[in-house]
Amino acid sequence: MKNKIKKFLLIDIVKAIALTIKKIFTKPVTIDIDNIKHTERSRTLYVVNRDKCVSCKLCVAICPSRAIKTKTNKIEIISELCACCDLCKNICPFKAIQHKD
Ligand code: SF4
Ligand code: SF4
Repeated sequence: MKNKIKKFLLIDIVKAIALTIKKIFTKPVTIDIDNIKHTERSRTLYVVNRDKCVSCKLCVAICPSRAIKTKTNKIEIISELCACCDLCKNICPFKAIQHKD
């Protein structure tokens, strides 16, 4: 009986519309990831120091996410694919990969 009343009054639809209207006026949850200061324990972005990198491609070989690409011998980390495992940073013999501050 209670369910029939609920269906008749379309309460769930009204609730959904109210929630949608509320969300229109709330601040978006998307964040500007480039301007966030990362800590060691948070999701980290990596940068390659091009002065130190000798393009040995050890980091490319070890990356489990295939997040490191080479463009004309320049190493590039695709942050959207990166799993933040630190393997590339640790294996680089020239310490060319660092966390981005
Ligand atoms: S392991 Fe280090 S030196 Fe070798 S390609 Fe990667 S970043 Fe460059
Ligand atoms: S941190 Fe791990 S997943 Fe990210 S680029 Fe380095 S090896 Fe690949």
